[in-house]
Amino acid sequence: MSKGKIILWTLVALVLVTGIGFACKKYADNQHQKQVAKITAMEKKASQKANKTNKQAKTSSKKAKVTWVKEAKRVSFPILMYHSISESNGNTLRVPADEFDQEMKWLKDHHYYTLSDKEAYRVLSKNEVPAKKIVWITLDDGYRDNYTSAFPALKKYHLKATINLITDQIKNGQANKLTMDQIKEMQASGLVSFGSHTVSHSDLAALSPSAQYDELKQSRTWLNKNLHQNTIYACYPAGKHNADTLAATKRAGYKLATTTIPGLANNEGGLYGLSRVRVEPNLSLSGFQSLLENN
Ligand SMILES: [Zn+2]
Repeated sequence: MSKGKIILWTLVALVLVTGIGFACKKYADNQHQKQVAKITAMEKKASQKANKTNKQAKTSSKKAKVTWVKEAKRVSFPILMYHSISESNGNTLRVPADEFDQEMKWLKDHHYYTLSDKEAYRVLSKNEVPAKKIVWITLDDGYRDNYTSAFPALKKYHLKATINLITDQIKNGQANKLTMDQIKEMQASGLVSFGSHTVSHSDLAALSPSAQYDELKQSRTWLNKNLHQNTIYACYPAGKHNADTLAATKRAGYKLATTTIPGLANNEGGLYGLSRVRVEPNLSLSGFQSLLENN
């Protein structure tokens, strides 16, 4: 073969190799683009699906919007009274966590609407109801187990409750009482509202009218400032109160207050001496039901 032919064939071979290489790369690029397009389409589909789910969730929360209905007859309803949610060991003020859980489940299963303090005020002041069956769950004294043992059940069944705080105990960080972080987390959930159980849990009926006013006013001021709320509800320690207490509670800026007088609550005697229903440990669910229905 002449030198010229060798150079020619080498050139031809080079052109062929380059050409094949180029074609292969183009094919690979095409495949890659197809792959990218496929992934993009899949992502788009997934995001459309997520949007749809969000829209459905928004629609269902819209459906859950509460309609208040004015009643012709005076409304009476149970305000449940709990304290510590822990093993009772003979103490009737403690309800074990599993019993509390079952009672909350019972309320949910039987379509009870659980009120916040502000909703309870609306019921009592306007004689309007947000549902056929209503109940207000209250827990006194601000025990830390309200966060560890009651709050999980409230979240699980999406029920509301109100915890009554003894403000000096929260301020001083008492070991068995709620911390500010726990209070703020529960408040942010929208499920738990907070009322005043006075500054020091004193027997109000044993105090002078001005000392009663101080207990109620100072605890309200503290709650308003630290929980960034307008506190409308007071709960008298151990239910103790007299005529001066009712006047002092109103003057301190509260709209309603509860006692430990047993029975259903209504507005017949004003809103500063509301009855409650005590929930004791070792109660069967039929016993719980009769507390709610037969008072
Ligand atoms: Zn108490």
